[in-house]
Amino acid sequence: MLARPGPWLISLVLILLCAVVLATAFIFGSLWITASLTAILIVAAYLLARKIISSYADISIISNLTKLQPQTDNAIAYKLLAESLLAGSDKRPFLAAAQELIKENLRLDKFVIFTREDDRFIPRILAGLNRNSLASPQIHRLSNGLKRGMPEGVFSTLESDVRLAYKNGEIDNMSAPVAFGYSWGRGRAVLVIADDPHGDLTQLAKDAEFNKIFWPGLDYCMRINQRLFDRNTESRQMSRQLDQARRDLAELSRELKNKMIDIQSFVKVSNELYSLFNEEQLFQALVDIVRAHLRTAIAEILVPSGDGKFTIRQSLSGERPSIELALDCETELCELIMKSPKPVLLPLAASGMKRDEPFLNQAIAAGIAAVSAIKASGKTACILLVGEKSDRTQYSSPDMDFLFVVSNIASLALDNIYQYSTIEKLSYTDSMTGIYNYRYFYKRLSEEILRAKRYERELALVILDIDNFKSFNDNYGHQAGDLILKQLSDLITRTIRSIDVVSRYGGEEFCIIMPDTGVGNCTVFIERLRSQIAESRFESYLFPKGSSITISVGGAVYPRDAFTADRLIYCADMALLKAKSLGRNRAIMYESDFTLDSHPAEGGYDESHQESIF
Ligand code: GH3
Ligand code: MG
Ligand code: MG
Repeated sequence: MLARPGPWLISLVLILLCAVVLATAFIFGSLWITASLTAILIVAAYLLARKIISSYADISIISNLTKLQPQTDNAIAYKLLAESLLAGSDKRPFLAAAQELIKENLRLDKFVIFTREDDRFIPRILAGLNRNSLASPQIHRLSNGLKRGMPEGVFSTLESDVRLAYKNGEIDNMSAPVAFGYSWGRGRAVLVIADDPHGDLTQLAKDAEFNKIFWPGLDYCMRINQRLFDRNTESRQMSRQLDQARRDLAELSRELKNKMIDIQSFVKVSNELYSLFNEEQLFQALVDIVRAHLRTAIAEILVPSGDGKFTIRQSLSGERPSIELALDCETELCELIMKSPKPVLLPLAASGMKRDEPFLNQAIAAGIAAVSAIKASGKTACILLVGEKSDRTQYSSPDMDFLFVVSNIASLALDNIYQYSTIEKLSYTDSMTGIYNYRYFYKRLSEEILRAKRYERELALVILDIDNFKSFNDNYGHQAGDLILKQLSDLITRTIRSIDVVSRYGGEEFCIIMPDTGVGNCTVFIERLRSQIAESRFESYLFPKGSSITISVGGAVYPRDAFTADRLIYCADMALLKAKSLGRNRAIMYESDFTLDSHPAEGGYDESHQESIF
């Protein structure tokens, strides 16, 4: 659309027209025309002069207003900075707040503000452009005009300057691309590449005051905010680390608590297992502990069966029918279980076996999941079998650790039991003859009397003493006497029933506890024993071949003769004395009306009858 010509333009045209006519009239010599045209010319000139004067007045007003413009621009610079800071101090970052305000106030849809870092410009605030496509232009690549004009603030519409903003050099679709540069202080500078269709940026950045305030202020705020952002990131990181540390600590304390509980339960388990002095009780307690702790219905013990196998002697899980399993000691699996320092998970073992192991298949089919060797004196004494967990979950690492520790505790407890039983056996054994000693005899007699009382049974006690043994020692020496004692104890052991118990009472005296034996059977037995010994021939290089001895035997019966161990011993002893007093080599049952003869008759070892006796 064409603009309407102003009055001063018409006046100018008229003056020119008049001047042409005047010149023509003057040339053609018409005075009237010349005068008229001169008058018109004067009027037009007057009008033009008035118009020009009025225009100058307008210009001076505009100029006055323009002088005020920097104030307005400064206000914009402060306003933009202050608002960006305020908005940025909120939840949004400063850069996002500044971007929105610049976009709104300068009506820029596409722009990027670079700040100078060393010899490069780094893109800081941008809108409508893809950050990834932006470059970091080097300062020396700016056009000379842009570079040189920066201290005052300079615009460039050179394509090469605008293109510097892009990595690939392709400018986005911009209708009025412009590059603006401004530098201040010690090497600080901004480079703005923008599409400025409304000219707002161009307008504002022409103002030196605006530039002086806005760009350094923006740069300063960006740096401060970057520092704040870094600190925030740092503190967020630290707070994340703190949270993680808190979580780790909670986890550790949970683990510690579990470990404490584990230790407590291990202490309880070891107390329980160490307090047992019997193998069967230990196995039962072990099975109960494992079943309860690992929540499995099955736990069994395989013990050596004596034929090169480990078998279940008796079900300890209360499984009916009990699992029939036999593990051959010669197999690869048995070797693996015995050598493994830790419990073995059967499915895992199965995968590592070279050959098919029948035990493995049977055990897995019977619901056994893990096995653990229990050792005593360094050798596998038995094998603990543990069933699958009741909730069908897999055995965890802590479960296997528990099994490992419990198996070790059981191993030590078993060692204790074996050692205890060895010591107990020693303490109850007569070292010379290998049969029980008086300590055991007395304890066992008391127990047997109690049992006889409970079951209302009879019980016989027999005491025997070698006749004239002193003479034998005197003749052949005590070593020869010892051999007699040993052979005699063997002889007695062979003569008695398996339920009878023979012990060495003292020197050359022996006693036999005979459960379930009344006076009749005892009378028969003592006579048989006496004659058997009398007929026996003893062999040693220390005394003549075919030597023999005689014994005197006394017997008493519970409850016929006595109700207590002491009284029964007394009665049997009285009967023995009676046998001695009646001449030795006799077997006498106790009678309540005994009178003892103080002159014992013949019997026992007799030197004068050596041939017949030995
Ligand atoms: P009798 O019993 O017939 O009255 O005569 P005796 O000679 O056997 O007399 P007594 O029972 O009083 O003596 C026990 C003897 O047994 C004394 C001791 O020499 C012998 N004696 C006891 N203990 C042992 C032993 O451990 N080894 C040997 N060699 N002799 C023993
Ligand atoms: Mg004696
Ligand atoms: Mg004697």
